[in-house]
Amino acid sequence: MGRVAIVTGGTRGIGEAISLRLKKMGHTVVANYAGNDAKAQEFADRTGIATYKWDVGDYDACMEGCAQVAADLGDVDIVVNNAGITRDGTLHRMSFDDWNEVMRVNLGGCFNMAKACFPGMRERGWGRIINIGSINGQAGQYGQVNYAAAKSGIHGFTKALAQEGAKYGVTVNAIAPGYIDTDMVAAVPEAVLEKIIAKIPVGRLGQADEIARGVGFFASENGAFVTGSTMSINGGQHMY
Ligand code: NDP
Repeated sequence: MGRVAIVTGGTRGIGEAISLRLKKMGHTVVANYAGNDAKAQEFADRTGIATYKWDVGDYDACMEGCAQVAADLGDVDIVVNNAGITRDGTLHRMSFDDWNEVMRVNLGGCFNMAKACFPGMRERGWGRIINIGSINGQAGQYGQVNYAAAKSGIHGFTKALAQEGAKYGVTVNAIAPGYIDTDMVAAVPEAVLEKIIAKIPVGRLGQADEIARGVGFFASENGAFVTGSTMSINGGQHMY
């Protein structure tokens, strides 16, 4: 059965692959994004997937954006909290703004989107919330106290909300990707990337669709008995 799904940060990278996979599964997909209008337009033209621009770190913008999607397309039954940013630096160089911004977007975005969409899912007795965490939220990472804390927070958020949604047919799960070949990883210096790849037992970066397939499982009826779980998709880099 086709449902309405919102993928935050759904216009590029991992989010793009998730949007495409959910569409392939028969859902009506909305790809949210933050500010890269040219990329969103190119994505919409190429895929036929509707794009909606709002900042997931802004509570009111999430409320308004999700209400608009529901008015345009129908009740939102699937939310994939994928939007994420990095502002890396060791603690002694990291500014308070770098800390706040990463917490606001990565973790605050999950809260805001859940506040907008969870109540309706609960009332209707069916819903799927899938949060994209990170291997660096599980294992930590040098120069990423903000990002690791936000992603680790996402894993806790997932388990707590899963308990609230369980008896209402709403599952809440997370995926912890390892290093995936996207713009975010392209920003990592080559020498650092080589060292990272050397530590991945399968010997390569992941592909965005390998994360999207995990999302597809959680979103499907096959995943109905799975909630509060974190799926690590990382080529064996961190066995958690
Ligand atoms: P990208 O940087 O390639 O894409 C990020 C997407 O998020 C873009 O669509 C961007 O929109 C959107 N976005 C950023 N900030 C906001 C915001 N405030 N509100 C709404 N949308 C926003 O990221 P990836 O595809 O690499 O990563 C996707 C997710 O996976 C992130 O949560 C990331 O932390 C996580 N992850 C990625 C890994 C990797 O190896 N790539 C590893 C582990 C986790 P716009 O285009 O408008 O800027």
